[in-house]
Amino acid sequence: MPRRGSSFIRKRRIAYMALGVMALLLILLFRLAWIQGTAGIHMSVYGGHSLKEMSARQRQEGISIDSGRGQFTDRHGQPLTGGVVWAPVLFPDVDGKAAIHGEELAKLLRTNKNQLLTRWKGLQSPLIWRDGGGEPVQINPHEAGKLLKLAPSLIELVPYAKRYRDLPNGRQWLGFLYERADRASELPMGAAGLERTLEPLLSGVGETFVSRFVDAQRRPLTHVPLRVSAPSNGHYPLQVQTTIGLPIQEQIEKLTESSHLAEGAVVVLDAGNADVLAMVSRPFYNPGHVDPQKKTDWSNRALKAITPGSIFKLVTAAAALESGVVQPQEQFHCHGSYGKYGLACWKKEGHGTLNLEEGLAVSCNSVFAHLGERLNAEQIQATASALGLSRTVGWQEQNLAGLPQFRPLDHEEKGAVFGSHTNVSDPGVRVQTAIGQRDVLVTPLQAANLIVTLLHDGQVRAPRIVKRISYADGSTLLELPTHAVPSSEGSRSIHTSTARMLREAMEKVVTQGTGASLRSKSWNLAGKSGTAQALKNGHPINHQWFIGYGPIERPRYAVAVLVQNASTHSTNQATALFGQVMDLLAQSSSVPRVATRSSS
Ligand SMILES: [Zn+2]
Repeated sequence: MPRRGSSFIRKRRIAYMALGVMALLLILLFRLAWIQGTAGIHMSVYGGHSLKEMSARQRQEGISIDSGRGQFTDRHGQPLTGGVVWAPVLFPDVDGKAAIHGEELAKLLRTNKNQLLTRWKGLQSPLIWRDGGGEPVQINPHEAGKLLKLAPSLIELVPYAKRYRDLPNGRQWLGFLYERADRASELPMGAAGLERTLEPLLSGVGETFVSRFVDAQRRPLTHVPLRVSAPSNGHYPLQVQTTIGLPIQEQIEKLTESSHLAEGAVVVLDAGNADVLAMVSRPFYNPGHVDPQKKTDWSNRALKAITPGSIFKLVTAAAALESGVVQPQEQFHCHGSYGKYGLACWKKEGHGTLNLEEGLAVSCNSVFAHLGERLNAEQIQATASALGLSRTVGWQEQNLAGLPQFRPLDHEEKGAVFGSHTNVSDPGVRVQTAIGQRDVLVTPLQAANLIVTLLHDGQVRAPRIVKRISYADGSTLLELPTHAVPSSEGSRSIHTSTARMLREAMEKVVTQGTGASLRSKSWNLAGKSGTAQALKNGHPINHQWFIGYGPIERPRYAVAVLVQNASTHSTNQATALFGQVMDLLAQSSSVPRVATRSSS
């Protein structure tokens, strides 16, 4: 609800005003409010990295304090971008007066005297004073009073809003801004994430400038108040309401920090409609200081396809049940070694006699090797497609809001089951595929959505990250209703009975299988673990997975956790992290654990 975002900023403004010590600032605020009407001031800025461009524009018009770019909120209207800070603006010092209190001024502006005075002396136009990282130096009201006293008429403070928070944890799904090298546009544009995919809607109708009158010698006319010029259009900037729950997003970010998740992703979907409630990709990056070379940091690992390992056994089991190559009560025998294709079960001494459900619960490779041999490639591929794998699933629409392809999730990969040149008639290939190795690639988003699909008896929902786009006055421009992913060519949904059998198997994973460490969590949980073997720079590493849902009595959340490039000797960290994420979700909801549970 965008109104809450507006009132949040308005309240904050009132708090600042109460603290305010300068009549000039009050005048400025009233003028801003007057010009922008009652829609609330949303000042967005240039991500803090457009120094050169900023100074070029200052010569013409003054200081730009608002690019007019659209803003983002979470599902409840909490702002995700924008936030007002007081930034100092230095005006040209024609008479060299700044030197009188140079030392004290430098201290307040977080620099040294020489640097400050050299810069000030050469100043031809007003300048927003920034720190080494290019962000405006933030001034509190106490310091503001001192600054204005020390350098009257040479310094002013302007309400300036940073686009992103002062946190190093940039959100890959949100993205960041960049300046166009060709200068085709003066304003920065979205470089990745929602900033990029929604760019045509976000670029506003104009900037807000603050300027002051000077005499012929550039001396400021102090009796004339600062002049504010802003576009008078009640429709902009647009507000994009995402499906993200900011508190849970932040808590999971912290959790990945405290559990030392170096590389990987966590995706939380609403089990009811597949809305993205949280999406965390590690490592983090700083959206204010993006290194274009470090794509591994700012690209969204939740949308990148990677070897799934044993979580893919859910798909193999579904394919086997759907094509009738296995009966639920059929008995398999695991001796540890499969005897063919160099394949062995992870349990050296073997699992003994077990059926499909038990094989899934303990993730027995031998059971799934048998299924891989029996299934043909089309059966595996068609079931994967029917479950929303090897194709993109993110919410999308053609020809919406003037965009030929409206796809909020940026650069979502589709993954794969078989490589295009793989000899699928080779049973060894299918055996490797059946246990989620070889060419199989799945994104964490698809993995979480696979859980939602199984909870919906095989219907694939399209995970949505944007729910509504509204005008600055709160009226709606676009609603983006949830929908299912249309079934792909040559595939139909799996049977209800297959989905139910897989859910029961996932419960068994926790009650007596590879997820037994999750038995004592806040909720009764279900899911599937996976450990994918891969090579990194020639060295064997593991990708650890856990995907599942909770509480099992009335599923509310589907979660996928991926820990990338883990040591081959480490225990599955993804399972532990999955449990911690579920505990967080349980704490933030009011659904208690159901005391008793059967463990058949
Ligand atoms: Zn086994």
